[in-house]
Amino acid sequence: MITYSINIDRVEKDLYQLAKFGFNEKDKGIYRQGFTDPDWESRLWLMEYFESYGLKVQMDGAGNVCARLEPEGGESQPTIIIASHLDSVPAGGIFDGTLGVVAGLECIRIIQENNIPFRYPIEIIATSEEEGRFGGMLGAQALTGSLTLGWLENAKDPTGEKITDAMAKYGLDYHQALHAVRAPETIKAFLELHIEQGPVLEASKKTIGVVEGISGVFKWLIKFIGKADHAGTAPMNLRSDAFMGLAEFAHEIGRIIEENGTDKTRLTIGRVELKPGYAHTVPGQAEFTLVGRDMSEEVMKDVSDSCRKALSAIARRHRLMFEYEQMSWLEPKACSQYVMDVIEKNTQELGYSYQLMPSGAGHDAQFFSDITPTGMIFIPSVGGVSHAPDEWSHWSDVEKGCNVLLNSLLTIQHDNAEGKA
Ligand SMILES: [Zn+2]
Repeated sequence: MITYSINIDRVEKDLYQLAKFGFNEKDKGIYRQGFTDPDWESRLWLMEYFESYGLKVQMDGAGNVCARLEPEGGESQPTIIIASHLDSVPAGGIFDGTLGVVAGLECIRIIQENNIPFRYPIEIIATSEEEGRFGGMLGAQALTGSLTLGWLENAKDPTGEKITDAMAKYGLDYHQALHAVRAPETIKAFLELHIEQGPVLEASKKTIGVVEGISGVFKWLIKFIGKADHAGTAPMNLRSDAFMGLAEFAHEIGRIIEENGTDKTRLTIGRVELKPGYAHTVPGQAEFTLVGRDMSEEVMKDVSDSCRKALSAIARRHRLMFEYEQMSWLEPKACSQYVMDVIEKNTQELGYSYQLMPSGAGHDAQFFSDITPTGMIFIPSVGGVSHAPDEWSHWSDVEKGCNVLLNSLLTIQHDNAEGKA
């Protein structure tokens, strides 16, 4: 099998070029949130840049920048999409999202320079508003048909700005976002290269993560209600101390995962509020969030059942009332076995170390997995840091990730097994 190599210098140059859009001199972070001036300027710049390589470029109604390379005579074949996002979180890093876009373009440059024959059109998409400024993943949802008019008309950012107004600022009519949807039969496969954004690959000294899927997530808002009492006069055995209930539940998390979870289960209490919140008063109420993740919906159900039982037993023991509200339940999304095999085989051919792993974070790929064979490639994040100015990945790892992407793309291009992808 012939393997091709990308040119890392060009990838590095493109990433630094994109990092200029929204770069903040003070904290060295990238501020390129969806539908802000830096985001928009980066999109317009990218469209011109794509055009300079002779690609067919368009922006769809959701603000996705799409660039196509078509084989002669194969224009109407289903497309292999390589995509990731161009927007960032506030004070984000230079790799999150942009790496997947730049890597896609580099694959196209290698194909053009080497006149590598290919059968299916290749489309690089820089998706819009993936980081959830408005609470969704607008670009990917629009492309995959999981966007609704109702959501668009209600979505707001934390300051109360409506997504419809934010889009209008840049000349986008939000109704047009609903026309961005792609029919599944027009897509052959979907590939995304992304930084891991966690510490797993670095810790296991592996270069490539072959992503098995994106973890499902549930979010609960839980309340223990007891009685606020004077911290001096209320005897310890006569209290209804809501914090004691919370502390006991937190202590149970390890056991719950051991008994009902897997090594991929995560349970996190991320926000806690005690009321009344005075140093000299027994807390009468503890309100807290619980976020659970796993790769299997069955396991998510078992773990959440076990949490509910523990909460109710603890409430009884501490003379508390317990209420909970399920804020969201997102099912896990599996990557395509075929695409995973392609990525794994190419990683082996290239001689890189790798491991199979789930993605704990959400990505554009999770929506595409509903409509087309989807695969994701991770590379290590130094220190596991992401969504921060010091997000970093070594250029040698970036290069290897791009090489896996390129050769996986070519395998799918030349795979004769009809209907496999
Ligand atoms: Zn990302």
